[in-house]
Amino acid sequence: MNFLVTDAGGPGEELARKAIEYFQDAALKEGIDLTDFDPEAPLHQQIAWAEARGLSIGCTYLRFSTKIQHSSEDQLRENIFAAARLKVFIPPHLICLDEAKKGRSTRRVGLSRLKAILQCGCSLVLVLFKLSRLHRNSYKGYEFIAERVVENGHRVIIFNDGIDSIDKRAWKAQVQLRGILDDMYVDSLIDHVKAGLVGLFEKRWTVGPHGIGYRSKILPDAPLTNLGKQRTMPEIDPVAAKLIRQHFEWIRDGMSLGEGLRRWLAAGGPIDPRSTTGRMTPTAYRRLLGNLRLTGRWEFGRKKSVWSSSKDYAEQQEQPDEEVSKFHCEDLRIVDDELFFAVQKRLDELKLGPRGPKKGKTAQLWDLTTEFFFCAACSTDQELVRFHQTGAHGRGMQCKRADFCRCKSAVRREEAVRAVCEKLQELIRQDRKLIGEIVVRSQELDARGDEGLLDELKQLENRERSLTRRIDDLSDLVGEGSEEDRAEMKAKIRAARSERVDVHEKLARARKTLERSSRTLTLDDVGQILDEFAALLTDGASGRLGEDAIYRALAVFRDLTGGCIMVHVEPRPARKQTNVRGQFQPRLLRVVRDKAELPPGSDDPVPEEVEVWLREPPLRDLLAPRVHQLIDVEGMSFRAAAKQLQKEGYQVNSGVVWQIYERYYEMIGQPKPKRPYNNGNSRESA
Ligand SMILES: [Zn+2]
Repeated sequence: MNFLVTDAGGPGEELARKAIEYFQDAALKEGIDLTDFDPEAPLHQQIAWAEARGLSIGCTYLRFSTKIQHSSEDQLRENIFAAARLKVFIPPHLICLDEAKKGRSTRRVGLSRLKAILQCGCSLVLVLFKLSRLHRNSYKGYEFIAERVVENGHRVIIFNDGIDSIDKRAWKAQVQLRGILDDMYVDSLIDHVKAGLVGLFEKRWTVGPHGIGYRSKILPDAPLTNLGKQRTMPEIDPVAAKLIRQHFEWIRDGMSLGEGLRRWLAAGGPIDPRSTTGRMTPTAYRRLLGNLRLTGRWEFGRKKSVWSSSKDYAEQQEQPDEEVSKFHCEDLRIVDDELFFAVQKRLDELKLGPRGPKKGKTAQLWDLTTEFFFCAACSTDQELVRFHQTGAHGRGMQCKRADFCRCKSAVRREEAVRAVCEKLQELIRQDRKLIGEIVVRSQELDARGDEGLLDELKQLENRERSLTRRIDDLSDLVGEGSEEDRAEMKAKIRAARSERVDVHEKLARARKTLERSSRTLTLDDVGQILDEFAALLTDGASGRLGEDAIYRALAVFRDLTGGCIMVHVEPRPARKQTNVRGQFQPRLLRVVRDKAELPPGSDDPVPEEVEVWLREPPLRDLLAPRVHQLIDVEGMSFRAAAKQLQKEGYQVNSGVVWQIYERYYEMIGQPKPKRPYNNGNSRESA
């Protein structure tokens, strides 16, 4: 006999030595005569010795887990004893083994080695402990035995399943039946395992890795685990938890995921213990932001391993809600519901929405706000046309339609954003008292609003339930139908999920509002909120903000302008350079209410649109109507008009006033009227 097989997938020296020892033990027990047996002899001598004793030559295959110590030795021992009972000798060289790995089946060198051995052309006895050792999939196990073993003239003995191919009539049926039973057994085993995990978690014991934000607390009094380790329970890791909260706030306020990840790495944030790359990846960062456990909701059985015959590996399938065991542990909460669902909503939008700023230098407020500016000329009621960065170093912004826009004009981003910030601050100063009064007064009226809120809450809860049902129903159907049907079903599930995130966010808000409705807000509180807005805008406009505050300033800017500033480009008569006005509806009151976690007031005054110069007209254009007023209407001399304007804070002399007067008539397109010397005034003596 000649077996030309590799060492890979073979037993190795240590196990080979053990195999001989086991055989000697088994031979004694089974009454096999060991005279002349040489444990050190080469393969062909041992085979010759066994054949002379009337023994058959066997081979075997083991699949073991490195996690369980002695697993391979125990299996080997059992196989060799079973073989000896049937008068079969298994030389160490004919032992094949694979380490069982989780998930997708990797190349199984041991099994390949076994195939090579079975092609040797002689007759062997394959001794197996269980059919399921050969293949996870029973059909494949049957195929292997029929085609590779029996058809090649070998005999197979599966001793734990009581199968022997020497029984030519029965073995096929036995192998197939055993396969079916194994499959059923594995399914019920998975359920048992899940039930076991749930039981452990009910005691608050650690079940599997916790993920980022949690650590293990050792329970010295609890019984040891099956692997002989100390029992632990999950608890919040305060350092990681603080970092996580910070990142949730940043993302909620509009930070890009790329920037968030960069900061996570820079801060040396922890990574998932299951990570294979050893560092936080974009996917892992996103997963962290979506991890429901951070709200104290721990689930078991959301995903289930299901064996896929066609792909030959276990797939993770999402399970309907009723299959999932849920626990709510407030003491494991790191992020509050409102923050969590606000971030989920943003993640949802990010799937489609605009990308964040380019990485590199520290972003300024005006690097992050371009998407809030829209072209008034190109936008319609149906569709807004936004601005994009343009020009050298992207310092400007212009209508997305660029050359097709009839009002194309590049606006300096920095100047425009500063102007808007200044306008907002002016509004804050101006409306401070009014806003305070409205908020305080409406609180008194709102005492009766709780009922409406309860109604809303109930409706949202109903909606949430029906969406969950819908998702479950759709999930049940997802495996059926053609590729196209499946894709459609998945799209529907995505849509329903997305809506559910929305509902969750509203629910969290409503619950919090209800919780806070007993608290009353004073004028001072409102003042404080407004001060904070003003401070963020001042610093944001000056470019003074650090990396952290910039996103809070961004949130304030976006909220106060409603994220929509219409840009009007106005030609200037007889000049090439245009004026640019921005127009938006300030939402001061609304945002103050949001910030104070108060519901929107039903009879709040609708704010008027405000206008702001995004590109200031030159001083002469700006002053022209005023000069016209002073000279033509009030009849002042150029010198008197200059003095008046100086009093109003403009640095102009009479010569400039004369130029501005000329510009006025140029702007309105009329000839300048003839006026008497010194506009008819007698000259004052100097
Ligand atoms: Zn346009």
